[in-house]
Amino acid sequence: LEQRLNHSHKMEAIGQLAGGVAHDFNNMLTVINGHSALLLMDTVRLGDDQIRSLEQIQQAGSRAAGLTSQLLAFSRRQMLQPKVVDLNVVITRLQDMLKPLLGEDIELYVLLDPALNRIKADPVQLEQVVINLAVNARDAMPEGGRLTVQTENVDLAPGFESPEGERHEGPYIRMTVSDSGMGMDAAVLSRIFEPFFTTKPKGKGTGLGLATVYGIVKQSGGTILVNSEPGRGTTFQVYLPATKAPMDESDRASETDDLRGT
Ligand code: ADP
Repeated sequence: LEQRLNHSHKMEAIGQLAGGVAHDFNNMLTVINGHSALLLMDTVRLGDDQIRSLEQIQQAGSRAAGLTSQLLAFSRRQMLQPKVVDLNVVITRLQDMLKPLLGEDIELYVLLDPALNRIKADPVQLEQVVINLAVNARDAMPEGGRLTVQTENVDLAPGFESPEGERHEGPYIRMTVSDSGMGMDAAVLSRIFEPFFTTKPKGKGTGLGLATVYGIVKQSGGTILVNSEPGRGTTFQVYLPATKAPMDESDRASETDDLRGT
């Protein structure tokens, strides 16, 4: 247990540090990206070489901005706006985006419990959880395969303990994200939630995806379990506490907006 606590303190400290740095960097990047965009509008007075240089600056600048926004998400500095949400709606809304992201060789199965309980969480952060898990699943299936996203209600028995030794009990919802990809060995599996841990080639992975997922799930009062076997695939199970609070009118309104695809 001591080791687990140390681990979560370490994550906390890294998160705060990363968040602070990312925040300041983001401000500076706004200046860099803004001015290079301004210069590029004045192509008449620029030579080809200068335009090419500026384009390089812009590309690097936008990659850097992408990284800082991931760092910010990870460090949870971004505003958290918990609402009563229906995870099914979040997933349904993402489906159109997931298909092109997964490509043609990955089959997507979405199995949603129509009676799924509501949860209290930030819907934007929930989207991040689903997207990060889906992107990892895709990367684990370069030759194609099957990705299943399932939701259901579960009643956790009093003995249920998270991998960190926290007890969870009562009505929860479970989202299972399962792929038929390459899986992981025990050494990788033990480190996947560490910030900056990645097995992907340089430039592809930041190692922040699952650390972000972990932070969001913890912050929402939930827990996450992983099962994986090399060559056979990986299953993530996200547990989030169900809420009895009814959706308020504004949430309901934005929910139907979302369904209309606005
Ligand atoms: P990144 O995707 O940038 O590498 P993550 O934190 O999202 O960072 O993932 C960390 C590592 O966990 C990945 O590099 C990969 O080795 C492993 N991993 C995560 N999800 C899966 C999966 N579905 N199948 C196999 N390996 C995975």
